[in-house]
Amino acid sequence: MFHSAALKLSLWYLAIIMSLSIGSSIALYHVSSNELERSAQRPYNISSVTIGPNDLYTRQRQELLNQDRQRLKINLVIYNVVVLVVGGGVSYMLARRTLQPIEEILEAQTRFTADASHELRTPLTAIQSEIEVGLRNINLTKSEAVDLLKSNLEEVAKLKSLSEGLLTLARQDNDRDVDSTANLLEALEEALRPLQKLATGKKINLNNKVVDFKLRIDHKKLVELLITLLDNAIKYSSEGTQITLSSAKAGKNGILHIKDQGMGIKASDLPHIFNRFYRADSSRSKDQTAGYGLGLAIAKKIVEQYGGAIVVKSSPNKGSTFSVQLPLS
Ligand code: ADP
Repeated sequence: MFHSAALKLSLWYLAIIMSLSIGSSIALYHVSSNELERSAQRPYNISSVTIGPNDLYTRQRQELLNQDRQRLKINLVIYNVVVLVVGGGVSYMLARRTLQPIEEILEAQTRFTADASHELRTPLTAIQSEIEVGLRNINLTKSEAVDLLKSNLEEVAKLKSLSEGLLTLARQDNDRDVDSTANLLEALEEALRPLQKLATGKKINLNNKVVDFKLRIDHKKLVELLITLLDNAIKYSSEGTQITLSSAKAGKNGILHIKDQGMGIKASDLPHIFNRFYRADSSRSKDQTAGYGLGLAIAKKIVEQYGGAIVVKSSPNKGSTFSVQLPLS
């Protein structure tokens, strides 16, 4: 599709180039041949020759003028053929270059839609098969029906969080306020509030050594980002471990480190964990670590939108440290 679009576009480019080239050649031909004619008609000073329209000298000059015109015509035709060949190549290159970003965006969108539909299928299939089994069971008791509804509700909750994640990823591009500032500690406290229960449940000790500073990021976005990283740190840590939060200034940036003593990430998974829908095998196989692999993709997008960066260092079974760098306000 893009190949034929590129061909069509390059034909348009070529048509523009050729109409300019042919137009200017015609104009050049007229101007030059008028000029040649004028110089041919310039009075000459040969007193011994009778000068008239049919004299030998005038005929020779006319012949020379015709030859010059012919040569000019041939040169202009050769020039236009060269413009056609070179212009054709350049037009195709320009057309490919013009269409490349559109092609990339379209490819990314197609991949996104395919990934999203694939992820949506799993909970939908679970809901469908549970309902079908329930309907086929003519002796379904009330408590079995309640269990079925509860299980469906869980799947619906998953679908809801998945669609929210997808919406966030889709929306973020146009959703940036560069002038906003956020207090790191304030955002951190807000992010920790909903997670405290989860951490206490796993007897995880949260060691907060963060020094406060203002960052150039929207407060809500910072909270969202911190919730993702802290939720992961708790989710992928075993009971009784510690999560250490620390921060430091580095030039014009502020850096926040979130260090856990959890399961860590294999070196082969590390380059992919910020890709959407990517989940390391170890986390996929564990039912209790619910998720769709969207959190880090969203986190990375937020950080990059505000001119920051996010990196991770990790060793399997030892733990991970996620470091977020954002411009200071
Ligand atoms: P989710 O947690 O929903 O699977 P994320 O995008 O937040 O999705 O994370 C992607 C993957 O990166 C996770 O599935 C997990 O394998 C890995 N990961 C993220 N944070 C940690 C962490 N703190 N410790 C170990 N693995 C992690």
